[in-house]
Amino acid sequence: MAQVQCVKCGKAGEAITDTLFLGRMEGEIKANVCKSCWREWEGMRVMVINEYQVNLGEESGRELVKKQMRAFLKLGEAVDTAKLQQNYRPPQ
Ligand SMILES: [Zn+2]
Repeated sequence: MAQVQCVKCGKAGEAITDTLFLGRMEGEIKANVCKSCWREWEGMRVMVINEYQVNLGEESGRELVKKQMRAFLKLGEAVDTAKLQQNYRPPQ
């Protein structure tokens, strides 16, 4: 079983083996995030899409999900996730 040192939970965990269809970010995520944290994000992703009413057909929607993902997995700058609790809608 392949293992990764996960930046999200700080532990060595099982590596992600599924294809994530994330293009350039795929390698970065697989090298830094364990499988169980990725599963956690998959649940969180649904919440993000619902709360922000994200349209994945739009570039801005995909960008928003990507930012939330990087923040959740501790791969990028922090974003204000408090907005998730306020039914925030991004400006059109
Ligand atoms: Zn982890």
